[in-house]
Amino acid sequence: MTIHRLLWCLGVVALLISVSRTAYADELPAPQKVVTIEGITEYHLDNGLRVLLFPDPSRPTVTVNMTVLVGSRHEDYGEAGMAHLLEHMVFKGTPTYPNIPQALQDRGARFRGTTTPDRTNYFETVPASDENLEFCIRLEADRLVHSLIRQADLDAEFTVVRNEFERSENTPIGVLAKRIAAAAYEWHNYGKSTLGNRNDIERMPVAHLRAFYKQYYQPDNVVLIVARPSMRRKPSRSFSSLSEPSRGRSASSTSRVRRNLRRTASGW
Ligand SMILES: [Zn+2]
Repeated sequence: MTIHRLLWCLGVVALLISVSRTAYADELPAPQKVVTIEGITEYHLDNGLRVLLFPDPSRPTVTVNMTVLVGSRHEDYGEAGMAHLLEHMVFKGTPTYPNIPQALQDRGARFRGTTTPDRTNYFETVPASDENLEFCIRLEADRLVHSLIRQADLDAEFTVVRNEFERSENTPIGVLAKRIAAAAYEWHNYGKSTLGNRNDIERMPVAHLRAFYKQYYQPDNVVLIVARPSMRRKPSRSFSSLSEPSRGRSASSTSRVRRNLRRTASGW
């Protein structure tokens, strides 16, 4: 796939996910090239999304990694474990991709999601081809804003997430790391585990998950990394037509984050 084709593709996918914009991909502003460092080129899209293109001729594969800049430090009181739980829910499907793990397996993908205090990421590595690259970009753009977040999926996922939590409780190094973080960050959210606690996980209302998702899973809060053997031409624009979020430019200015910062400053 040429770089132009890849950029066009990013635009088309974003258009598919857009709910308020009616422009066609060809009408979208072109991604703005920012800088190239050590062969990696950064582009900015009009909706705030950042793209890093990473040519890697050493492998016959394509990796698409979507990093959403939200993690456990953005959680509010009573929401411990929400960012990680949401990571699991974003694999549960969209109207276009009702079974995401199966769709990825059908492409021979190796895939995973991970959550830290600062970010949540989703990546897949597939055999290098134009079709596979376009599929990955369309999938990530779609589940960024169109994940279903259903109660039935949440009910089923509780067991999986609770199991991860219990495993962490049975790992000495994990328990030690948790204690050290709690002592080092007495009031900041960095001091609590990304896996959360049992009570909050088990009582998480699906409406809170949806609100958290809608607030932070937006194009201006995402860095998309594409690594592939050849970058001879510009990437497509499948993400470009995603609407700029109505909540404003940056998730870091949201009331939730301000509330967390106030809480940290006042020590409660
Ligand atoms: Zn997990």
